[in-house]
Amino acid sequence: MSAGVQPGGGAAAGAQVRLDAIAREIRDHLPCEQEPCRTCEHFVPGAGNPQAEIVIVGEAPGASEDRTGRPFVGAAGKLLDRLLEAAGLDRDEVFITNVVKARPPGNRDPKVEEVRHHWPWLEAQLAVIAPRLLVPLGRHALGRFAPDRTLKISEVHGRVLETPERTLFPLYHPSAAMHSPPLRETLFEDARALGETLRALR
Ligand code: URA
Repeated sequence: MSAGVQPGGGAAAGAQVRLDAIAREIRDHLPCEQEPCRTCEHFVPGAGNPQAEIVIVGEAPGASEDRTGRPFVGAAGKLLDRLLEAAGLDRDEVFITNVVKARPPGNRDPKVEEVRHHWPWLEAQLAVIAPRLLVPLGRHALGRFAPDRTLKISEVHGRVLETPERTLFPLYHPSAAMHSPPLRETLFEDARALGETLRALR
């Protein structure tokens, strides 16, 4: 092996090139009739390790993310960083993204056709990264992946949920826990369980 080449380095570089191409496609696909694509300040394709074992998926960027083009950099992101720490993980080890890659105006919920429009980019990112665990944050993101749309986040958070396509580990959304100490405690417990689950899978 030549000096400076790490085992797996070529695969990681290849995955990064493919993720960069997806991010470019998201940013360059304008003009687009979908409102979030027309009104956002920055697209937020996602960021993190191209070979992450865990991909964390929120619903859509908020105001701080729209300003910076980076996922989970506001108050919920700060809590997410602490949850990752509780799981024994670093932001650099995971990949963080959203179902919808542009902020819906006023932080309204994304519409069905907006999710449909952005979904192929998420699928493409997941195909490149092929994570062991996909972590949907909150009920909206869970609903996009769960086979049964009636599943409640309160029933499935903090444990493995197998679907025909992938292995989920749903967590409450950090925003939901910001003003609820009991939910916050549950979220930290679940984050520790996520870390343990990942280590058991290795
Ligand atoms: N909430 C989300 O769901 N995603 C972000 O990127 C930020 C806040």
